[in-house]
This record gives sequence, C-alpha cells and structure tokens, in this order.
Amino acid sequence: MKGAVLYGPRDIRFEERDAPRIVEPTDAILRLSATCICGSDLWPYRGISPVAEPTPMGHEYCGIVEEVGKAVKSIRPGQFVIGSFATSDNTCPHCRYGYQSSCVHREFMSGARAPVLRVPHADGTLVATPELPPAEMIPSLLAVSDVLGTGWFAAVAADVQPGKTAVVVGDGAVGLLGVLAARQLGAQRVIAMSRHPARQQLAREFGATDIVTERGDAGVARIKELTKGVGADSVLECVGTQESMMQAIHATRPGGSVGYVGVPHGVEFHGEELFYTHVRLHGGPAPVRRFLPDLIDLVWKGKINPGKVFDLTLPLDQVAEGYRAMDERRAIKTLLRP
Ligand SMILES: [Zn+2]
Repeated sequence: MKGAVLYGPRDIRFEERDAPRIVEPTDAILRLSATCICGSDLWPYRGISPVAEPTPMGHEYCGIVEEVGKAVKSIRPGQFVIGSFATSDNTCPHCRYGYQSSCVHREFMSGARAPVLRVPHADGTLVATPELPPAEMIPSLLAVSDVLGTGWFAAVAADVQPGKTAVVVGDGAVGLLGVLAARQLGAQRVIAMSRHPARQQLAREFGATDIVTERGDAGVARIKELTKGVGADSVLECVGTQESMMQAIHATRPGGSVGYVGVPHGVEFHGEELFYTHVRLHGGPAPVRRFLPDLIDLVWKGKINPGKVFDLTLPLDQVAEGYRAMDERRAIKTLLRP
C-alpha cells in the first residue's frame, strides 16, 4: 500500500509502505474511510520539531474494522469505528480517572495517512458507531477523532459553564471547534479571536457571539473592554506559542481558568507573574477517548456538524498539496480520502 511519509522540512512523500498486520493480540486492523492533516503536523512540516528519520504521518482516523487480534473482545470486524491519536487500555487508573491520553499503555498513533491502519489496544481505544454511517456523516465522525475532541477538552479544562463567558485564542481548526464546544457546554458568550474573514464566519456558525481581531496586549485590552474590565471566566488556548499563552492568561479573570491544548513551543512561565494572576491552568494532550461516546452521539443525532471545519478535500495521493494549503493558510483543515 502507499502512505504519507515525512522526510524533512516541507518534504512529504506518498510512497510504498508495508501494509500493517496484527502484531499484538489486542490489535485491530482498520480500512480507513477518511483521514486528515492536523495543525500539529505543521510543526514538523515546518522544521520547528525536527524529524530524525522518515516518519509515517497521520493520527486522525475512522473506518471499518477488517481484522482483530485474538484477545479483542468488544470490537468486531465490519464495525465502523473511531479512535484518538493516543491509544489506551481504558482500564488503568489514569484511564478510569478520565485521562486516557496518559494511559500506562499509551502509544501515540502515527501512519494513519494510508488506506490501512493498525490500532493497538483496540478494545480500549476504539468506539463503534451504532451502525454504518451515511457517507455525508464521515467528515464529522473523523473530526471527533482529534480536532473536536481536543477543542472539547480545551473547553472542559477551561471549566466552561452555562451562562458564562468563554474566549477562544486561535482560529485554527481546534480553536474553531473549541468555539462549538464552549457553546455546547452552555457558555452564553463565546468570543473568538481571529483576523481571517472565512474563519470568523465559521466561528460564528459554530456559535461565536463576538469576534476580536486584535492580538497580544491589544487583544487582551479588547477582551477586558467586552467583559466590563473583569476578564473572561474561561479561556481556551489553542495555539501553543508564548504570545498566545500570555494572551490567554491575561484575558482570564482572577479565579478563572485557561484550558490549553496548543502543543507548547518555546512557552515559558514567570512564576511570580503567574502567582499574582490567580488563574488556573489545565491542559495537555486531550483525553479524547473520554469524550468519544458523547461526541459520536451528538454527531449521530445531527446535533453538531464539526465536519464543516474541513474546507479542502483531496485524494490521499495529493497529501503534499494538502500540507501546502494548510501551511499557507489557504485551507483550515484538509480531509484526505484513501
Ligand atoms: Zn489506561
């Protein structure tokens, strides 16, 4: 089979790879219905996170189970399943506490930009839909796999509550779905920070009530203005830079919370400054597995349509163009069809 492999900065190739097989008795083999490119993939693509060797890419996936190992009990061939970027047994203390992305058996998925994928710990990692989904639902089910699950965790970590005000820093796909999550969790006011008209429009469709175009200190000042000088109850940090993190912390009211899901690159905290903000910080790799059953149910019942975040769909063999479009911000998120 052919799959996407990253060789170095801006060098992504679609080339022959060995088809995955069952290795452990807890594995499943999926035939993928769709996969996509993650904002976090742009860090190694741009050379900011160096790759030591040619690396099969892709960690967002959904598809039909082809084969399972002897120890797999709940997942069966023929089911349509969704998993997250982190595998989990769903039974260890961290999993039972809702932090499956810190599972003692965690492996970070890779190699999902291919027609066939091996998923370790299938019973604890994968969730099946009630029956085979209609084709038009697949983008939204794929979105649950990471981008919605991560935006959702940002909102939960930022302690979004009914009637409260949430701010979303970052207008990438995760930030936009953070808007959707904050709204679903009952925030009365959701302020999206974005300077791009197309992204502002999508933020509004996902439930943003206000748009702030300013950044940094000017952005913080605007948030203060919109909240009568108080600051926001909850801020979702969906970028991972020093500027975005400080923007998030300074836009939060004393006693409020920042949920951060942008993978930090060069972010540093000043202890004393943080001390006097009175802000809670919680984040990390999203435990998407915790949210999968509920999010699949919301999609299945047509209550949310996170698949709208894909504004470019390409055949998998055009993966390089998919990266370029996201790198140049021509596309918010690229869906790839094997
Ligand atoms: Zn576990």
